[in-house]
Amino acid sequence: MSARAGIVVTGTEVLTGRVRDRNGPWLADRLLEQGIELAHITICGDRPEDMEAQLRFMAARGMDIVITSGGLGPTADDLTTEVVARFCGRPMVLDERLEARIAEILAPLMKRWPNVDPETIRVANRKQATIPEGATVIDPVGTAPGVVVPPADGVEGPTVVVLPGPPRELHAMWPVAVGTNAFGAASRGAEHYEQRMLRLFGIPESEIAETLRVAEPELPGFERLEITTCLRRGEVEVVVRYDEEGASAWEGLRDAIASRHAGTLFSTDGSLVDDQVAALLAGRRMAVAESCTGGLMAARLTERPGASAYFAGGVVSYADEAKAGLLDVDPALIARHGAVSPEVADAMAHGALARFGADTALAITGVAGPDGGTQAKPVGYVCWSARLADGSVLARDTTLPGDRGEIRDRSTTVAMHMLRRLLRGEELPV
Ligand code: ATP
Ligand code: MG
Repeated sequence: MSARAGIVVTGTEVLTGRVRDRNGPWLADRLLEQGIELAHITICGDRPEDMEAQLRFMAARGMDIVITSGGLGPTADDLTTEVVARFCGRPMVLDERLEARIAEILAPLMKRWPNVDPETIRVANRKQATIPEGATVIDPVGTAPGVVVPPADGVEGPTVVVLPGPPRELHAMWPVAVGTNAFGAASRGAEHYEQRMLRLFGIPESEIAETLRVAEPELPGFERLEITTCLRRGEVEVVVRYDEEGASAWEGLRDAIASRHAGTLFSTDGSLVDDQVAALLAGRRMAVAESCTGGLMAARLTERPGASAYFAGGVVSYADEAKAGLLDVDPALIARHGAVSPEVADAMAHGALARFGADTALAITGVAGPDGGTQAKPVGYVCWSARLADGSVLARDTTLPGDRGEIRDRSTTVAMHMLRRLLRGEELPV
């Protein structure tokens, strides 16, 4: 049987949504790498009763490991370590080595704040160096140490891994926590799982569901695959998890999807369309002309380090005068077809090629809403043109679903897929 784990994310700022939880999802990926099955992620505020209730829930559900994030700071409302000590049946004791280590970390900080009372610092330092007896210390990356706390003799329950809230600190301390004997003992029985990802674009989720239904009776070992599909940024992601004996069923499924959905499957190795476009742009000079996306396309194309090797720049031409003035779009063309039209999109792409001396251009113009839609051009109507200097071009116009934010984001995804096809010398699917 595989080891099972739960994650308790603490912090009132996370509970209330002021800070989006980044630790739960990150730890979920790490547990998967360790072959530990994640069963629950819970979020609670900084109240010790609530935290304790969640630990009890995890214990009642039979978790072998519980990971907590947050509440390790020096202030009185940072109570995680104390709550965990009580839960594991271990008294709190001062660790003198740790106290000295934290003092060492604080020394340069104190020089920067000469007015802070040294006694206050000493108290805070002592608090953070007081840990459950018998716990394994994870040295701080910030100032808060983590601990790995197995249940005391005679106490039934999970081993608790206590980590700080700031993601950067949690990331750095995780490998140390995994390397402790206490963690190793608690995660015995972890199995090796593979996880693979297929990505498709331009296909409804229901089509994949149908493919899975057909594959199920035909593929030996299908039941060994744990398959989840989800819709993300307009793409369908199929995630397949399997143990060693599921490997051939995975290959069969991958081949079945590849043959049934040859026109829409674009990634079998985990790569994003953004990665593929970045690779295809190597040695090129790219420019964008954007209206309704207001710079999102340029932002997306420059997310990857090294983008300066191929990305020349972009024009956010929101107003008609900007389209005319910066991209040389003929005002008569705008008057005749409207600013949101295939004709203007293509003129914008021509303008971007010329303006930046580029060999690859992409233009987007559309109605992001919520106002400004008409019968002929409703909210969500968007036109794209992807053009190379050699004259090859892919053009599209369609009405995207969603609210303003979704339409703008989806517009960049469609653009990425058009670029990918153009640069691979492919046509658009009908
Ligand atoms: P500190 O010594 O900084 O107080 P801590 O372990 O007590 O460390 P918290 O007080 O819980 O950590 O969180 C400190 C800050 O770290 C939060 O204000 C927030 O900005 C960030 N943070 C905490 N938990 C999360 C989380 N789950 N996801 C993203 N950011 C988080
Ligand atoms: Mg804190």
